[in-house]
Amino acid sequence: MNSTKDFSGIKPFEKKLYLSSPTMHGDELKYMQEAYETNWMSTVGANINEIEKKIAEYVGCKYAVALSAGTAALHLATKLAGEKLYGMPKPNQGTLQGHKVFCADMTFDASVNPVAYEDGEAIFIDTERDTWNMDPIALEKAFEIYPEVKLVVIAHLYGTPGKIDELKAVCEKHGALMIEDAAESFGATYKGKQTGTFGDYNAISFNGNKIITGSSGGMFLTDSLADADKVRKWSTQSREDAPWYQHEEIGYNYRMSNVIAGVIRGQLPYLEEHIAQKKAIYERYKEGLKDLPVTMNPFDEKNSSPNYWLSCLLIDENAMCKTVRDENKALYISEKGKSCPTEILEAIASINAEGRPIWKPMHMQPIYRMNSFITAKGNGRAQSNAYIDEGASIDVGADIFERGLCLPSDNKMTKEQQDTIIEVIHRCFA
Ligand SMILES: *Cc1c(COP(=O)(O)O)cnc(C)c1O
Repeated sequence: MNSTKDFSGIKPFEKKLYLSSPTMHGDELKYMQEAYETNWMSTVGANINEIEKKIAEYVGCKYAVALSAGTAALHLATKLAGEKLYGMPKPNQGTLQGHKVFCADMTFDASVNPVAYEDGEAIFIDTERDTWNMDPIALEKAFEIYPEVKLVVIAHLYGTPGKIDELKAVCEKHGALMIEDAAESFGATYKGKQTGTFGDYNAISFNGNKIITGSSGGMFLTDSLADADKVRKWSTQSREDAPWYQHEEIGYNYRMSNVIAGVIRGQLPYLEEHIAQKKAIYERYKEGLKDLPVTMNPFDEKNSSPNYWLSCLLIDENAMCKTVRDENKALYISEKGKSCPTEILEAIASINAEGRPIWKPMHMQPIYRMNSFITAKGNGRAQSNAYIDEGASIDVGADIFERGLCLPSDNKMTKEQQDTIIEVIHRCFA
C-alpha cells in the first residue's frame, strides 16, 4: 500500500466483507430439493413457471421469460430489435447488419456486447451527473449527428433509475426503439413504476452479486406475446413444431434451469427486505461521510426509488490527490487532507473488505476504442481525456471513473463493520 495515512488500531475483519454477495434464506434449498425429488432437473418445471408468473406480476408486465443469464436476455432483446428494424438476416449474419446503435457508456459491458454479437456498431453516449446514467442531452446530440440510428440501449447503474422520461422522449422523437437493461435495478421504481417495464425490450439479471440471485440467471420482460414466444423459441435452439429437430432459424441454448429457478423462487419473497437493507447501508454511509469532501451516488429523490444495490462515493475535485491510471494499474501520491479511489480501495482491502472502482466507461475500453463517443459538451471522443487538465466539464463518465468508487454494500454487513469502513475512509482524508 502506497498510503502514508495512519490506520493504526483498526482491526481487519476476520471474515471477508464483500462488495455484494449472495444472501440466502433457506427456502432456496427447499425448491431446489423439490426439483430434484420430482426429477424436473432440466429447463422445464414448476420453479420456472412460478417465477415467470410471479415476476411478471411483481414488475407489472404481461410476460417474463426465464433465461440462463441477464446477458442472454439482453442478447435476445437486441436480436428482436434488430429483426424488427432490419429484417431477418442470413444464418451467418447478425440482425443489426452494421447499423449503429446508441449505448449507455458507463455500464457493465454485458449491456452493450450484444450489439457486437448482432453485427451492430455501438456508439457510446456520455453520462449525466444527476443519476450517473445516459445523458438525454448527449443522446439528442447523437441523433443530430447520426439521424439514421433506430435503437438505443439504456441501463440503470448501481440500481438507480436514469432519466427515463427524457430518454424515452428523445427516442420517440427520432422513432427509435429502446432496450432497457435493468440488470442492476430489479425492484427499483421510477414514478411508481418498476424498472424493466419502460423499454420496448427489457432485461433483468439474477447473477450472484445482484439484489436477489439464482447463482446465475436472467429474464426477458415484455407485454408482447409474439416477442415472448420468439425469445422462448430462440432460447431453446429454435426448434420448429415437428416430430424431428426442425430448424428455420439460428437458435441458442439460453433457457434457465429449473434448479436455478428454485433458488430464485426462494429469494423472491426477500427482494424488498434486501432493498431495505441496502437503503439503510446507503443512508448510513451518507450520514457517516457527510463531513468529508465526498458525495454519494445521486438519484432523483422526487421521481425515483432506487434499489440501492451499490453505495458509491465521489471525491470532490479539490480533495483528489495526484493520481494516474494506465490500462491495468493505478498510481497515486498520498497527500494530507486529500485522497483518491485507489488509496481508499487499498485501505478498505487492508482490513479484509472489498470495494471496487466505478465501472470503467465503455469508450475507455480497449475493445471499443474505435467506436464513437458523444458528450453533451465538446465534440466527444476528441476530448475524452480532457479531464486530466481541464477539470470535470466535458467527459462526465471519465470524470466519475476518475473520482468515484463503489463501497462494500453487502446486505449482511453489520453496523459495526460499516462504522469501521467509515472510519477507514476518514483516515484516508486525514
Ligand atoms: C450483471 C449485469 C448484466 C449481465 O447479467 P448476467 O446475468 O451476469 O449475464 C448486464 N448488464 C448490467 C448493467 C449488469 O450489471
